[in-house]
Amino acid sequence: MFEKILIANRGEIALRILRACRELGVKTVVVHSEADREAKYVRLADESVCIGPATPRDSYLNMPALISAAEVTDAEAIHPGYGFLSENADFAERVEKSGFVFIGPRPESIRTMGDKVSAKQAMIAAGVPVVPGSGGALPDDPKEIMRIAADVGYPVIIKAAGGGGGRGMRVVYTEAALLNAVAMTRTEAGAAFNNPEVYLEKFLENPRHIEIQVLADGEGKAVWLGERDCSMQRRHQKIIEEAPAPGIDRALVERIGERCAEACRQMRYRGAGTFEFLYENGEFFFIEMNTRIQVEHTITEMITGIDLVQQQLRIAAGEKFTLRQRDIHLHGHAIECRINAEDPYKFTPSPGKITNWHTPGGPGVRMDSHVFTGYTVPPFYDSMIAKLIAYGDDRHQAIMRMDIALSEMIVEGVHTNIPLHRELMQDARFVAGGTSIHYLEQKLAART
Ligand code: ADP
Repeated sequence: MFEKILIANRGEIALRILRACRELGVKTVVVHSEADREAKYVRLADESVCIGPATPRDSYLNMPALISAAEVTDAEAIHPGYGFLSENADFAERVEKSGFVFIGPRPESIRTMGDKVSAKQAMIAAGVPVVPGSGGALPDDPKEIMRIAADVGYPVIIKAAGGGGGRGMRVVYTEAALLNAVAMTRTEAGAAFNNPEVYLEKFLENPRHIEIQVLADGEGKAVWLGERDCSMQRRHQKIIEEAPAPGIDRALVERIGERCAEACRQMRYRGAGTFEFLYENGEFFFIEMNTRIQVEHTITEMITGIDLVQQQLRIAAGEKFTLRQRDIHLHGHAIECRINAEDPYKFTPSPGKITNWHTPGGPGVRMDSHVFTGYTVPPFYDSMIAKLIAYGDDRHQAIMRMDIALSEMIVEGVHTNIPLHRELMQDARFVAGGTSIHYLEQKLAART
């Protein structure tokens, strides 16, 4: 195992990685921007390095500053967390070229999966079902584009190969709107992602978002660790996740999970990863792979008893991979609510000083948060301030525990989305299970 690693991130995930390191006896260096100086994990870490001003470009996205910080502190490896540089193949490459271990996949895997066209092609080759579509980047010839769309069948969605974060997508319902939509998406994609390539997919009208967690050793061994249902979203941002996904045939999930593990074996994939699918009418369709730890990894930990961040460290350190599929069992049910500092219904950020912070507890309740009374939520970053996780023997108990935990939680000084979460825990459709990715927006729209 490593003696010392550098955590190239902030917020709750910096603390989550730090906790994994402490259990493994690994020393930690955290980096922080000028705005994150007072964060709890900065005090808990063995060492800390200020890497620049608050703006992410000058700090958490500043590759030379991060690599120098590793150099001056003698860290052996760099954990990128999620967001920021976690899926940047150039960063992974620079880390390795500078003589450090990148705690994540090989740069080539990040690159292949980061381009949605090549990712889809890799999945087709591995026998993972994908959304029907153009099968590659769209050609220039307008007649060809029209033929492809007609073959796939309307509605279709035009997506940027280099897209991410819910941007660079356009839904088209009629042939009359097609060519204009393609041209606009191309222009936007060129400007935003420096890659004008676009492709086309069937637009699924009422799917659920289901994803499969994997762990792989980079040498051809891989396991999958159940699925997560992340359908409760607003503007493509997940707000509640649960595992397992309610109401889906287990034999089908197992077939898909095994395909994902097999794809990892074929790619010699290394580390933790997530295959994201849309699920509709009993079928799974791959949309993209995330080559990093995800926010919602916690619920998988709760139902498998496996610490995913520790596994990332073990794999990166080259320890023998001892996980076997037959040893992975799912127990009970877990739900995660993302607690954001925002106006709960207008969804505008609510940064500021937290004057009172009381977190819930009790059986089956887990809280991952870097926040404390007196902490100031900076305006420069994501608004998520905590992840509240409830575990139960079954879904009913997990929902009940979450509702009680939310009712115990006190946050004063900033607004949070706790009222919305409470409302959802008591929402008959959510309680019944299986709502689509549009449910939350439809519910919110129906009210106004
Ligand atoms: P990003 O990398 O920007 O998150 P994804 O490919 O994961 O892009 O898609 C983001 C979201 O867009 C999905 O969760 C889903 O809500 C919607 N979406 C993407 N592709 C389709 C599709 N073919 N049909 C319907 N919705 C889609």
